[in-house]
Amino acid sequence: MIKDLRFLKVPNSKGTESIAIRAMTDKYYMASIPSGTSKSESEAVDIQMDAAENKFFSIKDKIIGMDENDIEKIDDLLKQIDGTNNFRKIGGNLALGISMAVFKAASKGNIWKLINQFATTFPYPLGNVIGGGAHGGNTSIQEFLVVPRKARTIEEAIQTNREIRETVKQQMDARGWLIGENAEKALTTSLDDIKTLEILSSVAKNYGAVVGIDMAASQFYFDGRYSYNSLGKSLNPAQQLDFAENLAKTYNLLYVEDPFFEKDFDHFAQLTSKVKNCMITGDDLYSTNKALIAKGIEKKSTNGAIIKPNQCGTVTGSIGAAMLAKKAGFYLIASHRSVETTDNWISDFAVGIGAHLIKTGIIGKEREAKLNRLIEIWNMMEKPRMAKLV
Ligand code: PEP
Ligand code: MG
Repeated sequence: MIKDLRFLKVPNSKGTESIAIRAMTDKYYMASIPSGTSKSESEAVDIQMDAAENKFFSIKDKIIGMDENDIEKIDDLLKQIDGTNNFRKIGGNLALGISMAVFKAASKGNIWKLINQFATTFPYPLGNVIGGGAHGGNTSIQEFLVVPRKARTIEEAIQTNREIRETVKQQMDARGWLIGENAEKALTTSLDDIKTLEILSSVAKNYGAVVGIDMAASQFYFDGRYSYNSLGKSLNPAQQLDFAENLAKTYNLLYVEDPFFEKDFDHFAQLTSKVKNCMITGDDLYSTNKALIAKGIEKKSTNGAIIKPNQCGTVTGSIGAAMLAKKAGFYLIASHRSVETTDNWISDFAVGIGAHLIKTGIIGKEREAKLNRLIEIWNMMEKPRMAKLV
């Protein structure tokens, strides 16, 4: 039984505060909640700390006394109390804080086992090496990522990503191309989008890794055009399709996330039909929302879906979104947010849903907390093996 529920504030990677909820059953279980920088229009709405604290006090007595194992009932109650379709009244950050703390309590701290105790495959860490776009940096593309696909264990995979980041950092520094790092501790560079991809692919190759990108294209789409300031280019959607197809083929990209504005399901579908052996993935496009994922399945917009529980606002809702995408044969990518805490539940969640990839950064204490948890889970499993990729 949930005997107590508390609202707490914890520091995050941006140097501000995030919501944490502590549930007491047999012992205490605490969950803290990240937030995004490049948010979509359809994702659950984060509300301010003071407003969330006030809402919390009007909700907590309805949850205390409930059985933590009735997770769906508790998530439904949160939706009912909110009454909107995107948690704009009580906040997706508050809702997920309660939902996740309860889920942790129900699982006694091993969330992955409660989602799927028979899980055997492990997600590859999708490492954000170089950043741009809304996360800060010179490029329009938001994330230049690597997948250490030759790695056979999670430890080896995590180490490979760290080595790639360090090598890229040294090479860029030696040539005067390094600016610094962003809030996710991805490197920032004075190079343009193409030169950034070139340097990353040449380094990744030496480590048996492959490259991916999160274009986060909604962030640089204005008046029907995609603006690449560092390349001095502005592309209409048809040209953006050619550009993305060309990047995917030239650099053998394993992964392309959000190559178009988040409402453009049709251009996503065209890219998916043109580029093979690549995970074309919807993040802002789907916003961890079942109805949007169903639309993408019907239109064949992508073959991959990002699942970010804080876009949805409840754990059971996020699992439902993941299972819908999985049933359609999509690759699943579990992801952190750019503004993170040291909580590590996303690692459990990723293993539990059978994600192929987990996007959770490479270095920095908020990211390391998740990577360390992945190593811990790997060592709890009978015979874990890395997921099968394209
Ligand atoms: C992303 O876009 O995939 C991401 C992790 O960034 P943010 O949290 O800013 O949405
Ligand atoms: Mg994204």
